[in-house]
Amino acid sequence: MRLPAVWPAIALACGIWLERLLADSVPLTPLASAGLFVAALLLALLLVRRGPRLAGTGTAWLASLAAWLLLGSLAAGIQRRNVRLDDAATLLASGRVDAHQPLRWRGRLRQGPSRLPSELRYDVDLDEVVSEGQTIPATGGLRATLTEFPGRKWVEPAVAGPGDRVELLLHARVPRNYLDPGAFDERAALARQGINITGSLRDGSLLTVLETPPLRWSDRWSRIRNRLLQTLDALFANAPQANAVLRAMLLGDRGFLEHPVSESFQRTGAYHVLVVAGLHVAALAAFVFWAGRRMRLPMEATLCVTFAVLAFFVLVVEERPPILRAALMAALVLGAQVFFRRPAVLNGVAVAAGGILCANPAALFDPSFQLSLSSVAAIGALGVPLAEGTTAPYRRALSQLGDPTLDLVLPPNLGQLRMLLRTESQRLLEPRLPAFLTPYALSIFAAPLRLGIGIWDLMVISLAIQVGLTPLLALYFHRVTLVGPVANIPAVLLTGIIVPLGLVCLGLGSIATPLAVPLAAFLTGLVGVLTSSVAWFSSLPRLSYRIPGPPAWLVAAAAISAAAFAALLWRNVPRKPTGRELRGGWWYLGTVSSALACGATLFCVATYPFPPQVTPGRLEATVIDVGQGDAILVAFPDGHTLLVDGGGSALAPLARMNGRPQFDVGEDVVAPYLWERGLKHLDAVALTHGHRDHLDGLYAVLDDFSVGELWLGREITSPGVRALEEEARLHQTRIVHRQRGDAFAWGGVDGQFLWPDDAPATEKANNNDSLVLRLQFGNVSYLLVGDIERPVERQLLGRGDALRADFLKVGHHGSKTSTTPDFLQAVGPRLAVISAGAENPYGHPNQAVLDEFNGRGTRLLRTDRDGATTVSTDGRALSVQAYADKRD
Ligand SMILES: [Zn+2]
Ligand SMILES: [Zn+2]
Repeated sequence: MRLPAVWPAIALACGIWLERLLADSVPLTPLASAGLFVAALLLALLLVRRGPRLAGTGTAWLASLAAWLLLGSLAAGIQRRNVRLDDAATLLASGRVDAHQPLRWRGRLRQGPSRLPSELRYDVDLDEVVSEGQTIPATGGLRATLTEFPGRKWVEPAVAGPGDRVELLLHARVPRNYLDPGAFDERAALARQGINITGSLRDGSLLTVLETPPLRWSDRWSRIRNRLLQTLDALFANAPQANAVLRAMLLGDRGFLEHPVSESFQRTGAYHVLVVAGLHVAALAAFVFWAGRRMRLPMEATLCVTFAVLAFFVLVVEERPPILRAALMAALVLGAQVFFRRPAVLNGVAVAAGGILCANPAALFDPSFQLSLSSVAAIGALGVPLAEGTTAPYRRALSQLGDPTLDLVLPPNLGQLRMLLRTESQRLLEPRLPAFLTPYALSIFAAPLRLGIGIWDLMVISLAIQVGLTPLLALYFHRVTLVGPVANIPAVLLTGIIVPLGLVCLGLGSIATPLAVPLAAFLTGLVGVLTSSVAWFSSLPRLSYRIPGPPAWLVAAAAISAAAFAALLWRNVPRKPTGRELRGGWWYLGTVSSALACGATLFCVATYPFPPQVTPGRLEATVIDVGQGDAILVAFPDGHTLLVDGGGSALAPLARMNGRPQFDVGEDVVAPYLWERGLKHLDAVALTHGHRDHLDGLYAVLDDFSVGELWLGREITSPGVRALEEEARLHQTRIVHRQRGDAFAWGGVDGQFLWPDDAPATEKANNNDSLVLRLQFGNVSYLLVGDIERPVERQLLGRGDALRADFLKVGHHGSKTSTTPDFLQAVGPRLAVISAGAENPYGHPNQAVLDEFNGRGTRLLRTDRDGATTVSTDGRALSVQAYADKRD
């Protein structure tokens, strides 16, 4: 089986990857890139000059691969250097515009208003900014959000739509990544959407329309998209859940999906159904293609119509790049199917991937590109040959059953099967059928067999997709879904119906709403079947769970073993014999061992049998960067682990318990850090007090990890804490109330609770109810004080407790309400860490508190600048390591 496009595509990807690897360690100077360019040129020359003589030799093959490799490196290097100086993020970072106050940013509205449940969002292509009375040219994308807070309704800005030239008065920022190992690269993700800076609008009146210049094509498409969203809203006004799902499946807007719905799709591995991508494009392409053939259009016309419909779909959907990639692949594969033989599927995929990488080398590192490429490659390389190898003979045996002459052409057992089917159908079925059905008796009799073959093929394809996706899903989403191959069958089949019908419905609805009403009702039913089937699979226990991401070498091993398995399979499913097939013992040995190797690597991915990354014999406390809030991982010398608080935001518009979180610090920041450390289990999780900046992240932590005990202080009956206790009970996590006088000893560390005092339950969370924990290991001690304020500090001082500590987690984010000079004197820390958000609205940490530490000569670190900070001791010496230092 010849796959000429696959190797160059792989070489190209390797080149891009190498450039990234080298650029991170050795800066690629212009001289080095020039050298690369000359090398590529020389290779190309060699190939051209010596081409005829080298043709067909190994040298030619190697030289061409090397040329592709160099080309990849070169393209990636050019892209890396191609940053404009008037880029908005560069302007802000370099101080050429005042980054500390609201500025007038001007540009053309690219997209918006995009409606989210409690937010309006505008994406603007910038052209200038006014700073200190000067108008400075600017480029890049700005995302402005207008958020609804409880008790405050927004005034919607007067914007006609995409294409308008607008001015926004807001405080723009370069998106900040959390400074934690393993943190999601938010900045890169936004950059992929063409967004370089973000800001929030305080009020709708701060967005004004300057003018409406002639619309660009992209503006027209965005306006059509807005209109289609409105049509959906109108058609499905009575079925909000169906509307939310259809918004996602048809137009790429996932903002309205409720948390339980999207989580059930994630748990079953069917979330891809909600992300417009390859599957949707393929369903649409197949539908149009089928309809065209049905209407007996000529092949060329059918293809043209199919491509036109695909192009329309690509243009109206949000988040265009992944869909454009999918459409490209679908178009190539479809074209290849029609004009060439089937093996061209993989070639088509390789050509599309190569083209995309040439145009945008950075796409190689985009998870969505990797996921779609990996699933399509798995279908082409594993699914198709496995299905062909197992069911193709039976498929052939069941075609044109009525024609006995074919029996002889087929192998004897298949011929017998056909005869058997005919005689048994005549004997068993025909006499029982009404007369008008007798001509179809044979088809009806064979239908269950055909259905069985179809289901088997689907299972095989679905399994192949799982093989392709499992390592990447574990790596990027930390999830393993064992129910995926089965749950995906109804989900994928329904998507294949819902997408084309939904678009037909939208088309009809845009002409006249009443035309589409019956179809809309039918679609509501279909979406109901989809969501309830997914919900049912997701309710099965233990079939979906969270896991640390596999190490890179394991992902590579999985890919290599799967590729070896696929290559051996291909060898045995040739369309016409090439004489190079491997036969007999060696083939079986190779196939079986590569399949076993692939299975073993996937098993390791799914179970993560590696120990967590904690140093035995040391007491470690890591203050994680969670923005404004607290989250501290404590690892004990014997491997016990304790998480103190989970971060959160008192200002976030919606919490997890409200059903629709847009950002969940537990899920998106704390859990990824813990997974990065290879943790699956925590011995205890402590909530110092019930404020949301300590509480919110813990729901996800209880959900994602196996947690031994939940430690709470004073009993609080607020809904937030109640919900956390509920979550703990759900996961059989024991709830323990800790108070002054309680102690524990783990791995030679003495843990002592100094606060709170015994007090009756209360409804409202209070800083002064915080758990205060002192840890003593050898000669070194740590003090974690939550958010306690002056009164508690004074009480602790008055009681004569041993407060001295080498490391202090500073109270209440460095606020002036805490850390009195007397308290600091009594603790006498050598090292202190403040956990506070960058540019937080409370002004934490307070300058007077900072001065106090400086005056004492205490080494002070801050999560907003230094990132995750790890303090570690062997019981004698104290060491500290901050994420920001490690990075530089
Ligand atoms: Zn706090
Ligand atoms: Zn607090």
